[in-house]
Amino acid sequence: MESGNKFHILTYGCQMNERDSEIMAALLTNAGYEPVEVLEEADIVVFNTCSVRHSAENKVFGKVGNLINLRKTKKNLIVAFGGCMAQVPVNVEKLKKMRVNIIFGTHNIEALPDLLAEFRRRHKQIIAVQEKTPERIVEFPPERKLGVTTNVNVMYGCDNFCTYCIVPFTRGRERSRRPEDVVKEVRFLAEQGFKEVVLLGQNVNSYGKNLEKPADFADLLRMVNEVNGLKRIRFTTSHPKDLNMRLIEAVADCDKVCEHLHIAMQSGSNRILKKMNRHYTREYYEDMVADIRARLPEVALGTDIIVGFPGETDADFEETISVVQTIRFDSAFTFVYSPRAGTRAALYVDQVPKEIKRERIMRLNDVQYGIAAEINRGEIGKTREILVDGPSKTNADKMMGRTRLNRIVIFDGTPDLTGKILQTRITDCNTFSLFGESVEE
Ligand code: SAM
Ligand code: SF4
Repeated sequence: MESGNKFHILTYGCQMNERDSEIMAALLTNAGYEPVEVLEEADIVVFNTCSVRHSAENKVFGKVGNLINLRKTKKNLIVAFGGCMAQVPVNVEKLKKMRVNIIFGTHNIEALPDLLAEFRRRHKQIIAVQEKTPERIVEFPPERKLGVTTNVNVMYGCDNFCTYCIVPFTRGRERSRRPEDVVKEVRFLAEQGFKEVVLLGQNVNSYGKNLEKPADFADLLRMVNEVNGLKRIRFTTSHPKDLNMRLIEAVADCDKVCEHLHIAMQSGSNRILKKMNRHYTREYYEDMVADIRARLPEVALGTDIIVGFPGETDADFEETISVVQTIRFDSAFTFVYSPRAGTRAALYVDQVPKEIKRERIMRLNDVQYGIAAEINRGEIGKTREILVDGPSKTNADKMMGRTRLNRIVIFDGTPDLTGKILQTRITDCNTFSLFGESVEE
C-alpha cells in the first residue's frame, strides 16, 4: 500500500445509507486502508449520498465544491462519490465537471477498493455506475464499529414506484437476502456484543418474494428472535398495502421484537394517495391501525407524511391533519414534497407553491408535536424497561436509553451501564424525550 491510505466517509440520508457507509468502511479497511474520524486528516474522502429531496442534494454539492478547492493545497486528496445521487445521470454530469475522482453507483459498492486502486494507478477520473439491478445479491463483510444497536439489511431496492419517489430508480428492483444469511449476520453481531438489531428494507412487508425457499417477514422475525445474546429487534419500513396480521402475530409472539411499527402513511386524502400510487385508502389505513391496536394494545406507531404533493388542496391537507389527530402517531417524519427528476409526480403541472408547502409543514408539525408531547406526559409515573444506548448527546453527564416503544429516556447513570437493560421510572418529559430514574427490580 502506498502512503496516504487514510479515509473518511461522509454519510447523508437514511439508515440504509448509514449501513452502506459501514460496508464501505469494512471493504476499505479489509483492503488495507485506515479510517479516520477527522475529515482534514483524510487522504481519501468518500461521499455516500441521498437524493430523496432536492435540498439535501444542494448541500452535498456545496461540500464537494469545498473539497475540490482543498485539492489546490492538498494535491493528493482523492474524492470519491457514491450513493443514490450517483445513480442520477444529471448529477453524474455535474460531478464529472467538478473533477470528482471516482463516481460509483449504489450497485458498485463492492468494487470501491478496486476503483481506488485503479485511480491510484492511472490518475484518470473513474465512473462506475451500473444502471441495471444486479442479478446476484452480494453478501458484504459483517464487521462494523461496536455499539449497542446496529442496522441489518434484509432486502434491497423497491418495486412500488410511488409517483414522488426516486428510490426505485436509485436502488433498483426489490430483492431479498436469504433468511439464513440474515440470521448468520445477526448471530455474528450478537457474538460481537450488539444488543439490538434494526432490520432494514424499503418495504419489509414484501420480504421474501424472490427467494428460492419461500419465507415471509414474519418467518424471518421468528428466526432472528432465536439468536442468543440479542435483547431487542426492530424493523423499518412497513408499507400499509403489504402489512398483514401474520406479522403482527409474530411481533406479539416474539419476546425480543419491540412493539414499535413504522408504517408510512404519506397522506390522509384518498385522492392524493391515489395520485401517489400508494394502493390504499385512509379508511384502510385506519382499519389496519385498529386491528394492530386490538392485538398489540401498547404498540407505538411511527409514520412518514408528505405535505404539498402536486394538486394537494387545503381540503386534502385537512384530511391529513384529521387522520393524524385520530390515529395519534407516537412519532412522524414529515416532509415537504420535493419534485425529483425522473419521477411521475415531477411532471404534474399542479405543483403547490413553496409558501403553502411551508405553512402546511409548520401546521402539521405543530399538531404532531402537540400529540407527541401529550403521549409523553402520559408516560410520567410509569416504569419502563430501557436498553441503555450510552451517554446522552443532548444532556451533559446524563445517560440515554430507549423504551421498547422507542421513546428516549434520559437518566442519571454511569457509562458502564451502556448495553444493559434497566427498569426506569419516568419522572418528567418534553416533546421528544422522557426523563427517568433507574429503579431496583
Ligand atoms: N420505503 C419507505 C416507505 O415507503 O415507507 C420510505 C423510504 S423514503 C426514502 C422515506 C420517506 O421520504 C418516504 O416515506 C416519504 O415520506 C419521503 N419522500 C420520498 N420521496 C419524497 C419526495 N420526493 N419529496 C418529499 N418527501 C419524499
Ligand atoms: Fe419510495 Fe414508495 Fe418504494 Fe418507499 S415504497 S421507497 S416511498 S417507491
